[in-house]
Amino acid sequence: MKANLLQESRKLSRPFCIGNGAKFRLRDHDPRDTGSFTEEDRPRAAEALQAGVHVLAEMQERLYAQNRYAVLIVIQAMDAAGKDSAIKHVMSGVNPQSCEVTSFKEPTPEELDHDFLWRCARRLPPRGHIGIFNRSYYEEVLVVRVHPEYLLSQRLPSEHGKKLWDQRYKDIRHFERYLSNNGTVIRKIFLNVSQAEQKKRFLERLNNPEKNWKFSAADVTERAHWKQYMEAYEDAIRETAAPHAPWYVVPADNKWFTRIVVASAIVDALASLDLDYPKVTGDKLKDFAAAKKALLAEGKSTRRR
Ligand code: ATP
Ligand code: MG
Repeated sequence: MKANLLQESRKLSRPFCIGNGAKFRLRDHDPRDTGSFTEEDRPRAAEALQAGVHVLAEMQERLYAQNRYAVLIVIQAMDAAGKDSAIKHVMSGVNPQSCEVTSFKEPTPEELDHDFLWRCARRLPPRGHIGIFNRSYYEEVLVVRVHPEYLLSQRLPSEHGKKLWDQRYKDIRHFERYLSNNGTVIRKIFLNVSQAEQKKRFLERLNNPEKNWKFSAADVTERAHWKQYMEAYEDAIRETAAPHAPWYVVPADNKWFTRIVVASAIVDALASLDLDYPKVTGDKLKDFAAAKKALLAEGKSTRRR
């Protein structure tokens, strides 16, 4: 059953995995795609998600016990693509003691006083943990590329000039290579929502009083830059997809499908590790035998009392 589930996860997530960006084109990826699932299969999709969530919890326990690898999941998307709900559903079964979600917003003055990776580096997951970045250092080649005026507040040395974006892609590639060399498993997820679906979700937020709080007028102005954002995403994925740090371009117009692909990608990442509970050997086994004997003897002496 479990082996089946791991195979299923691989089958579900692999079509969306970009491990080499050289030929990547965003237009080859349909945000409405639901793989081999149809609308009628939604109950089956919900079951698959439940099974994925369950197996993820089990694998996380072993990741923690083994204490060798860290897992970093980077989630990037346009507004209303479903980042929050994907995180909520997919991570619903994991132990919160060894999983941290960090949301990166507009940088604070303190963050702007540092290099652009600094704030993310401080929140990297330690060995045995899963870290989720809700937005990340990729904002530096996405929103900042669409709005280069944000660079002014970064007070960079002026010699950066036109080569800045290439320099940042290179820095990110090196950073991820370095993390991977040191035991951090990286998976990057782009929730690929269409502009039409985003409009529908914004209107829902405006029309439904319970969703009003999610609406921000600034999100609508950002929509006007859709084309530039898509170009920035395409370039970021082309430049930084690597076998050790692949991007998953996940169709995001149907949330029920998005969730199973995201869960499958994470299950597949954990399955690629040689996760097992640490084996007890040698002197430790002798200590165990002695401890067991002491505990059993303690039981007898209490009964006598
Ligand atoms: P939600 O809208 O669901 O609460 P969110 O991630 O969109 O989640 P917001 O507070 O709405 O959160 O937006 C955060 C904003 O901060 C985004 O517009 C993002 O592009 C911006 N941002 C993040 N990192 C940077 C950065 N390094 N420089 C400039 N802007 C950034
Ligand atoms: Mg927002």
